[in-house]
Amino acid sequence: MKNIGFIGLGTMGKGMAYNILQAGFQLIVYDIDENAMEMFVLAGGKKADSPGAVAEQSDVVLTMLPDVPQVEEVYLGENGLLSGSRPGQYLIDCSTIDPDCSRKISRIAAESGVVMFDAPVGGSPLEAASGNLVMLAGGKKEDILNCRPVLDACGERTLFCGPVGSGSALKLANNLITLIQHQMIVEGYNLAERAGVNTTALCELQRVNAPKNHEMITLTVMAKVDQAGFNIQLANKDMKHALKLAADVESPTLLATVVKNTLQGHIDNGFGRLAVQSIKKLYEQGT
Ligand code: NAD
Repeated sequence: MKNIGFIGLGTMGKGMAYNILQAGFQLIVYDIDENAMEMFVLAGGKKADSPGAVAEQSDVVLTMLPDVPQVEEVYLGENGLLSGSRPGQYLIDCSTIDPDCSRKISRIAAESGVVMFDAPVGGSPLEAASGNLVMLAGGKKEDILNCRPVLDACGERTLFCGPVGSGSALKLANNLITLIQHQMIVEGYNLAERAGVNTTALCELQRVNAPKNHEMITLTVMAKVDQAGFNIQLANKDMKHALKLAADVESPTLLATVVKNTLQGHIDNGFGRLAVQSIKKLYEQGT
């Protein structure tokens, strides 16, 4: 495993590709943006004029592209990766995309003996640049292990998520949590600000409590137990007062309203004495 192809030299990809070059591999790059390739040519890499040409010259190819249309074009399009690949070759998509797309491309690649799996990444452009990403690999363990040298050049660790598509699915679940957290923090701080309280004090309280809460909630959800604790009735009372306060100071409560409705629904069904974590039963039932 000497020649590594890299396609998609944007915010994340350029750091990853540079780390592959620094790790001593021969790097072959392609991007629709000519300028993005120049720094790699100056640093000792080679540029190719299509994804297919990258595949012809590489043992392993990584891709880091915006979304499904670009990934499909790069893998399946005219002069795409599969047009230049050969049996035994590894293609790894690190983009955050729909797991169905990873599975579809992997199936088509397998028809020609080519192994394609997904390995989206956890981390920001900073971690991409420093080689400290978490690689979320979805594929056969044996294939992932065979590609470890190149995955290790990009990330500080690789997690085995399950079959092809699982890396993308795990990444999407992670981003769902992160993005809901983002809105939740905006909603809470906006309420505190409009209520005229010292938001630095809220920040202090959150710094102490939030990590412990996160740990406790995650453990009880993972262990699938209803830990005794804060019950739904008390939680509902707090949400009622929070919503009244928010209405008084005209602070939007997009998420809080959903939570209040969930808690009230549990009380209406006779579950008011259960711990708040028991709302997970709603989710376990499916849609
Ligand atoms: P980006 O837009 O900065 O980079 C994408 C690169 O792909 C660009 O250089 C673009 O020219 C190139 N490209 C687009 N279409 C192409 C094609 N058909 N052929 C060849 N090259 C093509 O995006 P990014 O921020 O690097 O994100 C890439 C992926 O990583 C996305 O799926 C994103 O969701 C995910 N991600 C991003 C971050 C982040 O903080 N930016 C963090 C984790 C994961």
